[in-house]
Amino acid sequence: MDARLPTSHDWPELMPGWVWLCGAGPGDPGLLTLHALNALRQADVIVYDALVHEGILDWAPQAERIYAGKRGGKPSAKQRDISLRLVDLARAGRRVLRLKGGDPFVFGRGGEEAQTLVQHGIPIRIVPGITAGIAGLAYAGIPVTHRDVNQSVTFVTGHDRAGLTPTALDWAGIARGSQVIVMYMGMKHIGEIAGKLIAAGRAPTEPVAVTTTATLEDQRTIETTLERVAADIAAAGLEPPAIICIGMAVALRQALDWRAYAEGAVPRDLDPLGLRRPAETG
Ligand code: SAH
Repeated sequence: MDARLPTSHDWPELMPGWVWLCGAGPGDPGLLTLHALNALRQADVIVYDALVHEGILDWAPQAERIYAGKRGGKPSAKQRDISLRLVDLARAGRRVLRLKGGDPFVFGRGGEEAQTLVQHGIPIRIVPGITAGIAGLAYAGIPVTHRDVNQSVTFVTGHDRAGLTPTALDWAGIARGSQVIVMYMGMKHIGEIAGKLIAAGRAPTEPVAVTTTATLEDQRTIETTLERVAADIAAAGLEPPAIICIGMAVALRQALDWRAYAEGAVPRDLDPLGLRRPAETG
């Protein structure tokens, strides 16, 4: 790809000694922002995470690549070491791009890294990214909000600092108050979490969608229910990374699975909410 940037804008310069903390989007390189592309073109060194697509790094052939991921069988870097590495690179006068999957401030520890940099007097810029919890749903054909479904969304992690179901979360409160729940890092504990939501009053038959490697070629989505989700994930052999969506928004996929539609599939139901009126009215 010709990675030229539009000329009708003053693109900021990544200066030596700075760290730009950028979101790389959920996977599909086309979901990168222009600010992130601008950073890629200037960086001397890129410190990137496991969920950053390799094709994106190819847009920065000049840059040294440092892997700081926490999965994929490679040795995992400790958060403190990553943050201090960024400080050292900046102090050495490099133009540092810290590239994180999705959005750096959404379940990505970008806040901690930014804080360490600021505490060490390193100048920073934050470049938001498209988060998997929104884009992953969109690529599966599920609108994260839809007027006839929800006026709020709850983003949760299924995983706390210790790798357990987050105990600080009021699952009963979430069950009562959240119209649509979008869960990151939920694969390990989804059975337990679904149980807590049902115990707190959510219908066992409530629709759930699980989308893995969203926005990439091998994206997969299953539609299931709260009571069946854990068993169906196992039966389908789904592996993380996955975004799990709980709520009626999932039903809209019957009409809006645009990737299948583009390949010739007939929409399963043009009115999955049963509203019996054209979508543009009301
Ligand atoms: N900062 C990231 C989230 C990092 S936490 C963001 O804003 O998207 C890592 C979790 O994000 C994964 O466990 C998974 O739940 C989700 N995730 C990230 N990329 C994904 C993808 N391509 N498909 C499905 N889930 C993804």
